[in-house]
Amino acid sequence: LESVWSKVALHLLYKGLCYLTLSTVFTGMRGLMNYHLSCCVNSLLQTLSATCEITDLLDRGDGRNVPLHLKRALAAMRADVPQPALHRDFLHCLDQNCFRRKINVQHDADEVFFSILNFIQQQMDDKALAQEIQNLYKISVETYLQCLECNSVQTRTSYMLSLPLYVKEDYNSLEGCMNSFFKHQELRGINCCFCVQCETKKPSKQGIKLLSLPRILCMNLKRFRNRCGSTQKLDCMVTFPETFDFSETLKEVFSADFYTLYAVVVHSGYAMYGHYTAYVRHRENKRWYYADDSHVEQVLQNTAYMLMYRRDSEEEGRQPELSG
Ligand SMILES: [Zn+2]
Repeated sequence: LESVWSKVALHLLYKGLCYLTLSTVFTGMRGLMNYHLSCCVNSLLQTLSATCEITDLLDRGDGRNVPLHLKRALAAMRADVPQPALHRDFLHCLDQNCFRRKINVQHDADEVFFSILNFIQQQMDDKALAQEIQNLYKISVETYLQCLECNSVQTRTSYMLSLPLYVKEDYNSLEGCMNSFFKHQELRGINCCFCVQCETKKPSKQGIKLLSLPRILCMNLKRFRNRCGSTQKLDCMVTFPETFDFSETLKEVFSADFYTLYAVVVHSGYAMYGHYTAYVRHRENKRWYYADDSHVEQVLQNTAYMLMYRRDSEEEGRQPELSG
């Protein structure tokens, strides 16, 4: 059992798993039927259902199309009945929006996640509310390019809705993945970049700096690689903490910004024939549940794919303290 779990890398959830109860007891957390490989959408819906911030905002607005059916599906998932919730209308709506263009083809969880957030932006009548939903996930960053000869810097600010973290083939820690994401790269030789000051191509360094962190921090472990025209999956272990202190990992940036894990999307199997499931922390009783389409059960073989953390502090939108 231990060897299986070491691969699983969810040891932080041990404590939580002891509380795993099957759906005989009311949990306000209903399963979802699998329609045409909808496990990817199903797992994301479970994480969205555990994100009370987004359900509360959706409940306040009138939308059409995807936001409307998402709101209904999430409300149905919280109903006090043991049967799987009906979310066919939501899936149908995604299909009508040409999202699941090819039925019976599995999608990437991050692709579905970004599409749902995009549809909310486009189709919600209340644009301010739609923006609030986007802001929940918005990670502001600055990309910079510095000439190594004259030291002049070109910067550009932008935002991301999740942190894409590339995993290595052997052992990974979330902290390590994050450090390599934010580590600058030196560009030399044929990779030299044009410097406006020097008016020619010069060796330079480029990187990404964090400007602000959102309430809900989504991280996407990039396990899929394209090799020789086929997609392969890196099944390696990634350890991640249940609570996360940004000021410790990215020393230059943040004051105490603590995050607590509340949802994990898991991908098991191969790149092309995989299955998505989700661990979510119940919004009220704070226990961990495992959602595998229509039922709740313990499954040992799995690999974390997306991690969602929630900032513990109540203050919103504050700026990071720079410490040199
Ligand atoms: Zn220069």
